[in-house]
Amino acid sequence: MEIVHVSAECYPVAKAGGLGDVVGALPKYQHELGHVAKVVMPMYRTRFLYNNEWEVVHKGYTHLGSWWFNYTIIKEKTNKLGFDLYLVDIYGLLDREKVYGYDDDTERFTAFQIAVVDWIAVWNHHPDVVHVHDHQAGLIPFMFKFCYQYQHLQNIPTVLTIHNAQYQGWMGWDKSHYLPAWDNWKAGMLEWNKTINPLASGIRCAWKVTTVSPSYLEELRREANGLEALLEYEKGKCSGILNGIDSQVWDPSVDSYFEEHYTPAGVEEGKLQSKKILCDRFNLDIEKPLITFIGRLVGEKGADLLPQAISDSFYYIGRKMNFLILGSGSPGLEARLSAMKGLTRGDFNVYIGYDEGLSHRMYAGADFILMPSRVEPCGLNQMYAMRYGTIPIVRNTGGLRDTVVDYGDTDGYGIRFNYPSVGDITQSIWRAVELYRQTAVVGSIRSRIMGLDFSWESSVRQYLELYGGMIVS
Ligand code: ADP
Repeated sequence: MEIVHVSAECYPVAKAGGLGDVVGALPKYQHELGHVAKVVMPMYRTRFLYNNEWEVVHKGYTHLGSWWFNYTIIKEKTNKLGFDLYLVDIYGLLDREKVYGYDDDTERFTAFQIAVVDWIAVWNHHPDVVHVHDHQAGLIPFMFKFCYQYQHLQNIPTVLTIHNAQYQGWMGWDKSHYLPAWDNWKAGMLEWNKTINPLASGIRCAWKVTTVSPSYLEELRREANGLEALLEYEKGKCSGILNGIDSQVWDPSVDSYFEEHYTPAGVEEGKLQSKKILCDRFNLDIEKPLITFIGRLVGEKGADLLPQAISDSFYYIGRKMNFLILGSGSPGLEARLSAMKGLTRGDFNVYIGYDEGLSHRMYAGADFILMPSRVEPCGLNQMYAMRYGTIPIVRNTGGLRDTVVDYGDTDGYGIRFNYPSVGDITQSIWRAVELYRQTAVVGSIRSRIMGLDFSWESSVRQYLELYGGMIVS
């Protein structure tokens, strides 16, 4: 089968969160099973671009509304990532360092999608499936079906995966002329709530829709940032497939970001060494349990609850634990957390920013990882943490619900709480501190979670079954 993935992120080329991890791994495992997997993404100016060799495979000329532009498709020459990687260059739009966060993101990603479709339109064969990811690629199924110039692509099966429904790519109707001439009777296939909504359009026009965990699909029917009714209406073509983790990248016995490697048999010693390095660097007390948070500092992740929950924990439980936070996001929250450094007694620290290497070190050196998410489509951190023997403390939602069982329940191994509230978090931290005192129990939980199978194998098969069903029908 030939599968083309279209995405704004792909690790290690460019990553802002879980989307990058998934698009960096899923095609690799599809390729290993004998399929041709291609990834097409924007050519940002990242280190990966400069450190690898490329060949130009196509040059085209198309337009975003009345603005005509040249685009170039380049391909990585050595198949370094285990799949075919293509980058789309559009001068003036995609030639930037960061993935998101520019005022003209609408123009950037719309032009990107137009260039991708324009390129696929000149292939002398059709791929078996085009798999688009999130709203930055959500208009592609619409273009295949309703842009006059591309209607010969309408029989290509399309899949949309929703990694995060909070962001939908909304744009006003004044931008409807951006798309190449399309059948105006089909305006309803672009619209949701009086704006053009690329995610909603993808849900309507893609042949199949997936979410990154079964529980997230359930939750979206109740809370999907305005798309609840649409998802309920389209439920027949939706399914939830839990993400896997790339067990080659995330493996404490060979991790390329640190030297103190360990296996399940040597987990105690290995984690202690990693913890020591972290505690030395961040001035923390190695005797106390180390509780970490890694992620975007936004409400969706419950990060706004951290300052109060940490203060309450120190006040009510006592200074019996360390906290180490890695993240960036809301400037107000970044400032609040940074200010808390002044109150530390060698038990709190924060690193504001994005640091892939530090995140690996933290998964290895931490005792617990805290994820008080309000919304968690799948959540990769808890799976990485467990692979490194770090016990997850999670809110009972989305993919966290699908992957973590409370240690008080039969066969459990984590700490789960129900509400994204300061009270629930503080109580869970108390449970973690109590658990940490039971060294033998912690030891057996560590060995147990390191052996859990979160590999891509089963998820890849589910995706292949989904594709196969579309090709037959
Ligand atoms: P998201 O909703 O942000 O995509 P996921 O749990 O799906 O959340 O994926 C988060 C990914 O991003 C993980 O690989 C995590 O380690 C990484 N990550 C998030 N914030 C940071 C950061 N500040 N530094 C390094 N890695 C980070």
